[in-house]
Amino acid sequence: MSEKHLTIALAGNPNSGKTTIFNSLTGTRQKVGNWPGVTVEKKEGRINRFGHDLTIIDLPGTYSLTPFSIEEIVARDYIIEMRPDVVIDIIDASNLERSLYLATQLRELGSCKVLFALNMADLARSRGIKIDADKLSALLNVPVIFTVGNKNQGINELLQAAVELANAPVTVGSSRKVRYNQDIEKSIAVLQAQIERDLDGLLPYDSRWTAVKLIEDDQVIKEHIRRKAPAAAETLLAETLRQRGILTQRFDEDPEIITTDERYGFISGIIKEVFTTSSQTRVDISRNIDRVLTNRFLGMPIFFLFIWSMFQLTFTLGDWPMGWIEAGIAALAQGASHWMPAGALKGLMVDGVIAGVGSVIVFLPNILILFFCIALFEDTGYMSRAAFLMDKIMHLIGLHGKSFIPMLMGFGCNVPAIMATRTLESRKDRILTILITPFMSCSAKLPVYIVLAGTFFGERAGSVIFSIYLTGILLAIVSGRFFRRTLLRGEEAPFVMELPPYRVPMLKSLLIHMWDRSKIFLRKMGGIILVGSVVVWGLSNYPQPQRYTVDYDGRMALIAESYRARMANLDPAHQRALADQRDHALARLARAKASERAEYSLLGRLGRVIEPVFAPVGIDWRGGVSLLSGFVAKEIVVSTLGVLYAAGDDGDEALQAVLARSGMTPLAAVAMMAFVLLYLPCLATVSAIRRETGSLGWMFFSIAYNTGMAWVVAFVVYQGGRLLL
Ligand code: GDP
Ligand code: MG
Repeated sequence: MSEKHLTIALAGNPNSGKTTIFNSLTGTRQKVGNWPGVTVEKKEGRINRFGHDLTIIDLPGTYSLTPFSIEEIVARDYIIEMRPDVVIDIIDASNLERSLYLATQLRELGSCKVLFALNMADLARSRGIKIDADKLSALLNVPVIFTVGNKNQGINELLQAAVELANAPVTVGSSRKVRYNQDIEKSIAVLQAQIERDLDGLLPYDSRWTAVKLIEDDQVIKEHIRRKAPAAAETLLAETLRQRGILTQRFDEDPEIITTDERYGFISGIIKEVFTTSSQTRVDISRNIDRVLTNRFLGMPIFFLFIWSMFQLTFTLGDWPMGWIEAGIAALAQGASHWMPAGALKGLMVDGVIAGVGSVIVFLPNILILFFCIALFEDTGYMSRAAFLMDKIMHLIGLHGKSFIPMLMGFGCNVPAIMATRTLESRKDRILTILITPFMSCSAKLPVYIVLAGTFFGERAGSVIFSIYLTGILLAIVSGRFFRRTLLRGEEAPFVMELPPYRVPMLKSLLIHMWDRSKIFLRKMGGIILVGSVVVWGLSNYPQPQRYTVDYDGRMALIAESYRARMANLDPAHQRALADQRDHALARLARAKASERAEYSLLGRLGRVIEPVFAPVGIDWRGGVSLLSGFVAKEIVVSTLGVLYAAGDDGDEALQAVLARSGMTPLAAVAMMAFVLLYLPCLATVSAIRRETGSLGWMFFSIAYNTGMAWVVAFVVYQGGRLLL
C-alpha cells in the first residue's frame, strides 16, 4: 500500500524558532540547498509519520508577505505556486503582536491551510503573558498548538494537527479575514468580480486576495497576471488603475498604507481579545524594585554600595580559606623538602612547582567569591541595571553601559572579562572594550601592591592601593576617548537597554556560573603558571657559579660547629635561645648565597641586560626581571621578587623586610606599582585578546600600548616625583 504524501511548509518571523522546530521534526534527514535562482537557503526534510510520507520545508524567515525582500518573495511564491498541503506559521508567543502580521497575511491568502504554532511558550509564560489559544483559534479559524521548540515540547502534537488539517475537507471561505473600510471593500468587490468573470481558473490565487494585491499595486502579481492571462490583463489592470486613483484621492495616501494600517488595527483587535498579561505581578514587582534601584538619586549610591560590598566580601571572607590554603602549601613544601633527597629535583619541586603554583592558588577563594557575586548580579537581573546606570558615565568613553560589565569583571580576572565582550553587538565596541579592560587592575596584581605598599607606606597602604586602582580606571577612560576619536572612530551602536524582570536566582545556576569562570583560573594555574614557575625557577638557578665570592658552605659548617660546641653543656632554655641565633645566622648566609646564585644565573644576566630600560623609572634589575616573569602571570611577580631578593621562604613579611633594606625608595615603589598596573597583560589575557578580536594585529597593539603606557606613567611618576621631592 503506497503511503499518502503530504508537504508541510514552516513559515514565520526570523528567530521565531522555525529552524529549531524543523530540526526537531526531521532530525538528520535533511537536504540543504538554495531556492532556485537566489542565494537563500532552502532546507527540506523527508520523514514518515502518522502513516504519511511527509516533506517538511523550512521557508525563509519573513515579517510579512509583501514582496519587499527576496525572502518574502521566495516564501510567498512557494506557498502560492507550490501549494503545500499545510503551512505551519511559527509564531513567537512572547512577541505575539509582531508575529500576527505575517499570520494575518497568511490567513488572507485563502488558498492554503494554515496552522499556528505558538512557539516560545516558555518565554511567554515567564514574562507573564497569557494567550487564549482557543479564542485565537476561533477568531482566525485556525488550529493553534503551543510549542517549546528547543525543548521538543508540543512538536508531536503539532505534526499530528498538521496531518489532520491536511486530511480535513476544505471549508471554503470560512476563515475570518481582515475587513477593510468601506471604500477599500468597494474597490475589492469591483476588482474581485472582474477577476472571477474574466480570469476564472487562469490564476492559482484566491480572487479576493488578488484584488487586494492589485489595490496595493503588487508588481509581482501584476507581472503574473500579464503572463498567465494576457488577454484579460489589460482591462483588469486598467480597472485597477482607476480604483487606485479613486482610493488615493479619498485618503490622500497610497492605498497600500491604508491596507497596512487596517491590518494592524485588525491585529490590535485580536490582541485585545486573546492576550492578557494577567500574571503581571512579576513585571510589577520588577517595576517597583527598579523604582529604587535605578532611581536617579539612589541608583548610583546603591550601586557603589553593592560593588564595595562585593570587594569587601571577596577580600575579607576570602582571607579565611586563604590562611588554610597557605598552611596546606607550607606543609606540603615542608613534607617534600623533608622526604625528597637533596638536589635539583627537590629544588624544582619545592622552590619551583610548590612555591610557584602555591603562591597563586591562595587566590582561589577570592576568585570564587568574586565570581559568585558577579553570577549573583547577572542571575538576579541586576547586572543589566548596573549597565543602565553606568550608561551615562560610559558614554564619556564613547561606549555604552553594556561595556561596563566586562570592565567590572576585569577587576577579578581579565580573561573572562574579555570573553564577556561577546555580548556587545558592534565589533568596534568590542575591540575598544578589550583594549581598555586590562587597565582594570585584576586580582592577580593585588599581591604586588600589598607587598610594595605594605613595605613603604605602612598605615597608608590602603589609600595608596586605592589610588592605583583609580589611576587604572582614569587611564581606561582617557584611552577609551582617545581610541574612539582615532583608531575606532564611529558609531556608538544604538541599542535598546533590555531590563528583564528580576528573578530569584537558583543556587545551582549560580554555582555553575561561578564555576564556569573559575575553571579558567584553575586551568591557567595548571598550565601556564606551572610552566612559568618552573621556567623562572630554572632560569634563576642555572648556570650555577663554580665558586662563590665567599665560601658560604664552609662558613655555614663552621658556624654550626661552633654553636654545637657552645651549646653542649647548657640547660634546655639556653640551648633553645642559642639554636635560634644559630638558625638566623645560617639563614642569612643561605640567603646571601641564593642571591649570589640568582645574580649569576641566566635570569640575573637577563636582568643586567634590561637594566637600562628600567633604570629611568627607578626599578632595579631585580624588579625588571620580576616584571618580565609577570608576563607569564601577574601572580609570579611577587614570587620572583622573593627569589631575587633571596627573602627565604618566610612569605611576605620576610620579603618586606628585605625590600625595606634594599635601597628601594617609596617613590620607586609607586612607579613599580604603576608599571604593574598598566604593563602588558598576562599570557592568558593576551591569548584571550587574540581569540576574541580574531586578530594578531590587535593583540600586538594591545601589548605595545599597555607596555608603552606603563613605562611612560612610571617615568612621569618617578622622575616627576624626584623633581618635586
Ligand atoms: P529561526 O530564525 O526562526 O529559524 O529561529 P531558530 O530556530 O534559529 O531559533 C532562534 C533561537 O530561539 C534559538 O536560539 C533557539 O534555541 C531558540 N528557541 C527556539 N524555540 C524556542 C522556544 O520555544 N523557547 C525558547 N526559550 N527558545 C527557543
Ligand atoms: Mg532559521
